[in-house]
Amino acid sequence: MDTAEIRRRFLAHFEAAGHTVVPSAPLLFDDPNLLFVNAGMVPFKPYFLGQETPPFDRATSVQKCVRTLDIEEVGKTTRHGTFFQMNGNFSFGDYFKEGAIELAWSLITNPVDAGGLGFDPDRIWVTVLHSDTEARELWKKVAGLPDERIQNRGLLDNYWNMGVPGPGGPCSEIYVDRGPQYGPDGGPEADEDRFLEIWNLVFMQEELSAVRAKDDFDVLAPLPKKNIDTGMGLERVAYLLQGKENMYEIDEVFPVIAKAAEMSGKRYGADHVDDVRFRVIADHVRSGLMLIGDGVTPGNEARGYVLRRLLRRAVRSMRLLGYEGPALPELLPVSLDKMKRSYPELEADFARISQVAYAEEEAFRSTLAKGTQVFDLAAGETKTSGATQLSGDKAFQLHDTYGFPIDLTLEMAAEQGLSVDEEGFRGLMAEQRARAKADAKAKKGSHADTTLYRQTLDAHGPTDWQAYTTLTTESR
Ligand code: ATP
Ligand code: MG
Ligand code: MG
Ligand code: MG
Repeated sequence: MDTAEIRRRFLAHFEAAGHTVVPSAPLLFDDPNLLFVNAGMVPFKPYFLGQETPPFDRATSVQKCVRTLDIEEVGKTTRHGTFFQMNGNFSFGDYFKEGAIELAWSLITNPVDAGGLGFDPDRIWVTVLHSDTEARELWKKVAGLPDERIQNRGLLDNYWNMGVPGPGGPCSEIYVDRGPQYGPDGGPEADEDRFLEIWNLVFMQEELSAVRAKDDFDVLAPLPKKNIDTGMGLERVAYLLQGKENMYEIDEVFPVIAKAAEMSGKRYGADHVDDVRFRVIADHVRSGLMLIGDGVTPGNEARGYVLRRLLRRAVRSMRLLGYEGPALPELLPVSLDKMKRSYPELEADFARISQVAYAEEEAFRSTLAKGTQVFDLAAGETKTSGATQLSGDKAFQLHDTYGFPIDLTLEMAAEQGLSVDEEGFRGLMAEQRARAKADAKAKKGSHADTTLYRQTLDAHGPTDWQAYTTLTTESR
């Protein structure tokens, strides 16, 4: 079943059950706590908190999401993309636990020819918060699940919050057993690779005043109404229904891998390390396309830095596969071709999008070879001297002169078994900022207008480094 067809079925199922279909919000959403939208509920937050009155009691959407926190997982697990689409259904003070479980269960287990997704009910496992006996009883009543396939978990896994003050509540997650060839028996509690999480049902019922950790927070008050917020990973469902091994092999993503294989002459499936690179390329190219499509441009701060890092990592991964020519002009159109069915606006805007992406690759290419030489030399010297840490000085030079995002240097160092003096690097970045500030001050009153620069600085923080570490907000 095509990804677009799963999306269509999801929306149709909930529309038939009285939900208003709401288009995806852009990835850039006006929320000071978030760099990018990372869950389907984000655009509805004011409704959940009772700050605004929703024009509907029930809504459904397929929301574009970016989770930079998952970047290291990409290509290594079967299930983490930096960009993905979250199918969601939402109840604003209307149905609660029972309705949410009924609607989810019927969609996943109804036969394909009856409009459902046709999952075998015997392969479904769920988790509930240990204290939520109500949810356990409902899963038994509504779905007929045996107790063994309903696992209790603690706050860390089964209490949902935004990582910052806001709405929260217990949740119940739905997993599909991929089969014994993927790991030991024992449900999601035992193995999250064999048992794949596809859907999170959040029973949103309270407002949190402080969130110190996922499982350490203060409840301010019950919400004015009890709500439902769910998120189903479209790509995860697609990979299961398409009989694939992971989310990078689905119809919307795999053609980029195929193209990269053709370009590099390497075969996908022949070597584990190369396969991870192929998957990183396919993921990052798609995320780049979607981010630029929503107005992000590469830069050294905040959102622009995330985009820069994704594009540069994709380009470098192509090099590691042995392809040295400009890669994005070959790969980006392939991704566009797959994504335009659900996002036709990408095609209309592709002249601009591709220009932004190709210019970024060119900027990187012009220094990549030289920077890699400098890195290799420094790594070699570090090792010969018996040290295990690349100096902050070198990391700074690579960043400043060769445009290597610090994460790229960290990654290259790790490949050589080295660490990086990050503190030293940060110190040098801070010095450079101070110099830039002093320069700007000296120029004040002459021709340079730094107002805009300072506004950006205030809004996003001064360095790419800080921008990256502020990305701590992740929903579960
Ligand atoms: P995981 O434990 O696998 O990292 P999660 O618990 O962080 O997932 P949720 O925050 O519960 O995920 O998000 C709701 C759903 O969105 C998940 O059940 C999953 O299907 C999907 N999802 C979450 N993160 C990703 C991702 N990085 N790539 C693709 N799908 C994702
Ligand atoms: Mg989850
Ligand atoms: Mg999870
Ligand atoms: Mg996660």
